[in-house]
Amino acid sequence: MGVEAIIAFGGNLGDVKNTFISARKILTGSDSVSLLACSRLYRSPPMGPADQPDYLNAVIAIDTSFCALPLLHLMQKIEAQHGRIRKRRWGERSLDLDLIAYDDMHMQSAELTLPHPGVGERVFVLQPLCDIRPEWQHPAGRSAQQLLQDLQASGIDLLKQGEIW
Ligand code: ATP
Ligand code: CA
Ligand code: CA
Repeated sequence: MGVEAIIAFGGNLGDVKNTFISARKILTGSDSVSLLACSRLYRSPPMGPADQPDYLNAVIAIDTSFCALPLLHLMQKIEAQHGRIRKRRWGERSLDLDLIAYDDMHMQSAELTLPHPGVGERVFVLQPLCDIRPEWQHPAGRSAQQLLQDLQASGIDLLKQGEIW
């Protein structure tokens, strides 16, 4: 047994559901990774440039014996294998894999910030996270469930819960 890590999936180019399935298969096919839990799929409007398709989003929890940086590097390799090309900030992409949390590690470097800095403001991360880990604690002292409720209280609509994948 290793530690628990939370990974967010996003994408809005190509057959995104199949890309997610393929990426999850490669990731959990590693001897050092096993799947613990998987959220439903959610469809969300784009963050950043509005002239791009809606996104599909999901979150998984894994057990891993990788350290955080090697795990990030594996995720980046899987993004590249699925045709990830960076065009513009928050622009369209076939696959985005963000490391939301690695155990309760708290760090900030050029390459890796943990927990992922967007998690508290992003309904497309918090809502799937609440499918699988509503009790997950942000170091700011609130759970995923509470952070999602904070967003709702500020007027942000919940996403329509999609299918299992
Ligand atoms: P955002 O990070 O706001 O969701 P993005 O996913 O579009 O935006 P990317 O272009 O995918 O951003 O990544 C930019 C850089 O973010 C990567 O080179 C990576 O080193 C860095 N990074 C820092 N912390 C993390 C993290 N927790 N998960 C994934 N990448 C991270
Ligand atoms: Ca991202
Ligand atoms: Ca990313």
